[in-house]
Amino acid sequence: MLLMAEPNIGDRVDSYCGRCKMMLAHTVEAIEGGKIKKCHCNTCGAQHAFRPKPPKRIGSGPGGFESTDFDKLVKGQDPDKAKKYAPSERFQPTELIKHASFGMGIVLMCKESNKIEVLFEDGAKTLVHGR
Ligand SMILES: [Zn+2]
Repeated sequence: MLLMAEPNIGDRVDSYCGRCKMMLAHTVEAIEGGKIKKCHCNTCGAQHAFRPKPPKRIGSGPGGFESTDFDKLVKGQDPDKAKKYAPSERFQPTELIKHASFGMGIVLMCKESNKIEVLFEDGAKTLVHGR
C-alpha cells in the first residue's frame, strides 16, 4: 500500500524553478499546515514557493510572462500606475489594475469579447470589462 508521506524539512521534492525555468530537484525549507511552503532549487540555490507544476505561459515571445509571477509582475510596481477596475472600463493584457476587493492585479489576457483574466495575489480571476 502506498501512503502519501507528510513532507518534512530537508526532503527532496520536484518543483518548478522560476530562475532555471524548468522542473528540478528542490529541498524543502518550510512547511505550513502539512504543505510545503518554501523550498530552494538544488541547481541554482534560489528560494521560492513550492510549484509542483510548471506555470502556464501567457502570451509568447519576449512580451510573454508566466502566470505565477505575481511577485515579479505586480509587487514593487507603483500603485498609482494601476487603473481602477470598473466593468465599464476596457483593459489590455499586461495592464495593472486595482480592484476594490482583490487589490492590485495584472491583466493576463482578454477572453471572449468582454472578459479579462486578471492575476491577483490569491490567483487568477475572470472579470468583465467594456460593458
Ligand atoms: Zn533553479
